[in-house]
Amino acid sequence: MFKETQPICVQMPVELDGFELTDFKLRCQECNEPIPEALTHGYVTQPQPNLVAFHAVCICNECNVIAEGVQRYRKTDPRTIRVETLTNEGWKNTYMIIQEIPWPVRFMRKLFGFNSD
Ligand SMILES: [Zn+2]
Repeated sequence: MFKETQPICVQMPVELDGFELTDFKLRCQECNEPIPEALTHGYVTQPQPNLVAFHAVCICNECNVIAEGVQRYRKTDPRTIRVETLTNEGWKNTYMIIQEIPWPVRFMRKLFGFNSD
């Protein structure tokens, strides 16, 4: 799957119900080092407006291993995103406190289809 898919960073940002996910990083399960963006491939899906799922395949140069990573970002309330990571022991949740994109910025983007930043 690594060769058939694009780096996830070129598929960013992703809008998640009024919030913008700008980067996606995985750590190697062996050495816990962050995987470089260029070595994190995969695809991004949005089954629901408040849920974005990442299916990634990444290569750790240190360990010389290919690992799969599945992570879901679920907006649970206007200020919180639950980050669900699939691990060997099942799903693990962490939480992100967020700021919404101000509505004028969202409105302009919808209207003109450009990024103002
Ligand atoms: Zn590693």
